Amino acid sequence: MISKRVQEMVPSVTLAQSEKIAQLKKQGINVIGFNIGEPDFNTPDNIIKKAEEAYRLGYTKYTPASGSIELREEICRKFKKDYNLDYTIKDVIVSAGAKQSLTNALMAIINPGDEVIVPTPCWISYIEMIKLTGGIPVLIEMDENTGYDLDVDKIKDKITNKTKAILINSPNNPTGAVYKRDRLEKLGNLAVVNNFYIISDEIYEKLIYDGESNCCTASISRSIKEKTITVNGVSKSYAMTGWRIGYAVGPTHVIKAMSDYQGHTTTSPNSPAQYASIEALSNSEKFVEEMRREFDKRRKFIVERLNRIEVINCVMPKGAFYVMIKVNKFYGKSYNGFSINNPMDMCDYLLSESKIAVVTGDAFFAKDSIRISYSNSIENIREGMDRMEEGLRKLK
Ligand code: PMP
Repeated sequence: MISKRVQEMVPSVTLAQSEKIAQLKKQGINVIGFNIGEPDFNTPDNIIKKAEEAYRLGYTKYTPASGSIELREEICRKFKKDYNLDYTIKDVIVSAGAKQSLTNALMAIINPGDEVIVPTPCWISYIEMIKLTGGIPVLIEMDENTGYDLDVDKIKDKITNKTKAILINSPNNPTGAVYKRDRLEKLGNLAVVNNFYIISDEIYEKLIYDGESNCCTASISRSIKEKTITVNGVSKSYAMTGWRIGYAVGPTHVIKAMSDYQGHTTTSPNSPAQYASIEALSNSEKFVEEMRREFDKRRKFIVERLNRIEVINCVMPKGAFYVMIKVNKFYGKSYNGFSINNPMDMCDYLLSESKIAVVTGDAFFAKDSIRISYSNSIENIREGMDRMEEGLRKLK
């Protein structure tokens, strides 16, 4: 008998898709993956060397539940350097990925029945995480015509006396939206006045284009800082998704609660990966900039290429490595036994007919859309988009 809590979870649509992709690949079919949610770069050598050193030096034991002192000190230095924010190690927790930091944060602050506001489109795991804590997700749709920018007035209308937190993500997966300081300040002041937390997922902070940079919500004012739990990690910035190191900084009492919870559920995050993450945070600026520039080239290339396809209109995203396009103009069309009536049909069709993998927007509460990740080489993007154009042309 499976618990009600887990039975009520919506299984991951993307995992079901990955299964289909894996089956095609197993048959030797050359599928080009635009479903990828991680950098296609290798972890830089200097970081790998530090992991090797960690194993040899015996950094192979448990660390404190909230992470090694050295890594937490490095995270404090990072916030000082990047955002002029002062934190001490008591305000920092290291987890097995940003995902675990997010779960810890929700576990620490949400009581059953509390409401958590989530602007959508959003990463699907947020909703399931909130439900697992007994919280009630309050989804608020952002406007595609503004590039899915944060609409604080719309959020304001949904605040009730049960609102405990808002969960925001900028740069955003899947929309690529990057929230500017004025919007975040307005939201921050709402949180202060109405006494709720902001959980700010800034995992894509280093992947912002056009000369812009991340506005860390907590850095806006002292009072906003007291209401903000910032979640981040090494996965996306340093191509370290498999190392499973994320972190959060926030009010000391919240971090302590997160750490107590983590102590019982995880003991501590991976020791050698923590040791190597110090190197990532302190000595990888060149790598990050090279990766960002490459993503920027791909971003411009894919948007330009997509917009050359008739009926496709693709907005230039400002951050992360995803673009979203609407596919509703293809509804009612068919080819080769496939009829397109929703984004999932389009994903199935493109996988089967064009041998390219994209993700349905339904996985992100994005209506009538598919998400295309440009975490792939220019050559593959060129070939993949040619295949897509041909596949779309056949739909009648
Ligand atoms: N937040 C967002 C918005 C993400 O897209 C991801 C990864 N897909 C994560 C958090 C999780 O990152 P991590 O690997 O650090 O758990």
